[in-house]
Amino acid sequence: MFLNMLCYLERLLTLLQKLKYIIMNTKNKGFNTKLVHAGSYEDQFGSAVTPIYQTSTFGFKNAQHGADCFAGKSDGFIYTRIGNPTIKAFEDAMAELENGFGGIATSSGMSAVTSVYMALLGQNEHIVCSGSIYGPSRGVLEQDFSRFGVQTTFIDTADLSQIESAIKENTKVLYIETPTNPTMQITDIAAASEIAHKHNVLVVVDNTFSSPYLQNPLDLGADVVLHSITKYINGHADVVGGVIVSKEEAIHNKIRHAMVYMGGNMDPHQAFLTQRGLKTLSIRMDKAQESAMKVAEYLEAHPKVEWIKYPGLKSHPQHELAKKQMRGFSSMISFGLKGGLEAGRTLMDNVHLSMLAVSLGGVESLIQHPASMTHAGMTPEGRAEADITDGLVRYSVGIEDVEDIISDLDQALAKV
Ligand SMILES: *Cc1c(COP(=O)(O)O)cnc(C)c1O
Repeated sequence: MFLNMLCYLERLLTLLQKLKYIIMNTKNKGFNTKLVHAGSYEDQFGSAVTPIYQTSTFGFKNAQHGADCFAGKSDGFIYTRIGNPTIKAFEDAMAELENGFGGIATSSGMSAVTSVYMALLGQNEHIVCSGSIYGPSRGVLEQDFSRFGVQTTFIDTADLSQIESAIKENTKVLYIETPTNPTMQITDIAAASEIAHKHNVLVVVDNTFSSPYLQNPLDLGADVVLHSITKYINGHADVVGGVIVSKEEAIHNKIRHAMVYMGGNMDPHQAFLTQRGLKTLSIRMDKAQESAMKVAEYLEAHPKVEWIKYPGLKSHPQHELAKKQMRGFSSMISFGLKGGLEAGRTLMDNVHLSMLAVSLGGVESLIQHPASMTHAGMTPEGRAEADITDGLVRYSVGIEDVEDIISDLDQALAKV
């Protein structure tokens, strides 16, 4: 009797806490307020941030509570692969920032990509993708999903007429990355979604290069948005992870099922670090993109630079589209050196401040030469087809003083 009463009191307390959260929720607050406060819950100690719940499993209060958890009648936690308070805090924050139904945190960006493929595609079904999506996002379709009968067509999604003609009877997904890595090509998300939806095709957008601060694909018509949080969202080059946000509950549940059963979950420590990084997303991005504009202008005027692609420059062929669809131009720059492969290698060997490394979107500036590094395994013909020229250099502008970034590039370019 007494135990039963305690149980009811506890349930009442949980309900009251929920009510308080609803009243205090951040849904109609500004983006920066959401960054700091979305996805935070009170615990018994009044912790200022969600602690790391480093536990694999959660004890049920009694048999009924266990049954309720499994039946989805209680929002208690069961097992960390299925859900965990630290992970949930980050997922809820991301769902709010991307204006979606719910978030799903994953062990890596690639785990987010493959969970979405696994959930939305089946045997003899077809997906249409931007040709220059992130290499492994393309490779896993060509080398792995193809073995299970998934068909893929790669097109230039920046050219809307190609989308219309690539869609077939069995097409289920249109998969877009914008801007693309490393070619900085931009796809009109609203227009592409309209075409896809006419044919009952779901639209998935990899929003890694923009982050929710600059672009919200779900608001533009997409059904699912995903990120490698390894990049801008965590932003400190110390976590690998991913996240998926869906607009609708049914799609969210389908993808969550795939992620949980495939075991692609994030762990609590990853989630803690990522939410800590997330809180400063806008101030990091503001600083990085302000510097990126200056670095881009410097490079555009440099005699050894043959071409440059930065969405913020008027010379970018889709500058107007970028202005319409994004709230800023992010901090990724691609440029081509006169002198090809050799010039690229010389530049890499002479930078000091800019770190010679893959990845992007962190506080530190990173430089990379795809032809001799990330895309060296491709044939020269394959690289040409993907627009990866020998002189292409990719630069991720960090938050150091821009004068130092430019002077580092300047002294290295002098040796090219
Ligand atoms: C890095 C990246 C991924 C993969 O993310 P990981 O966290 O490395 O698994 C996917 N898409 C884009 C655009 C990326 O830059």
